[in-house]
Amino acid sequence: MGYLSNIGGYTSIVSTKISKTDAEWRAELTPEQYDILRAKGTERPFSGEYVHTKADGTYCCAACGAQLFSSKTKFESGTGWPSFYEPANLEAVELRSDNSLFMRRTEVLCRNCGSHLGHVFNDGPAPTGERYCINSVALELKPETPTS
Ligand code: FE
Repeated sequence: MGYLSNIGGYTSIVSTKISKTDAEWRAELTPEQYDILRAKGTERPFSGEYVHTKADGTYCCAACGAQLFSSKTKFESGTGWPSFYEPANLEAVELRSDNSLFMRRTEVLCRNCGSHLGHVFNDGPAPTGERYCINSVALELKPETPTS
């Protein structure tokens, strides 16, 4: 599926479907959500509500509700942030080069609304070898609805 090449081959074109003013985001989000989603902050490790969550469901964007990650791809990374080995689908997220803080990292954004989610690294488990390190604050778990 070319997951690794997806990291290396991202484009910087961000075509977000939702565009709101900074004032609108500030009004809609909690201060904590705003700091991470819109100001690219990072929650303290092991502080987020989804670090150890094992429940089945879909992790959606806390800012716009877009479906971002499946609980099936969540794994214990030991880092203190919810970690996934792949997004729900490759169109759900936007990857962007981030050279801030004297580090070379790849930022993960919600493609639908352009909000900052976290970063992706190449030290994840099989099958992709990727580790999407995502802030709990940026996510909202929608539990799986029973099919019976
Ligand atoms: Fe979003």
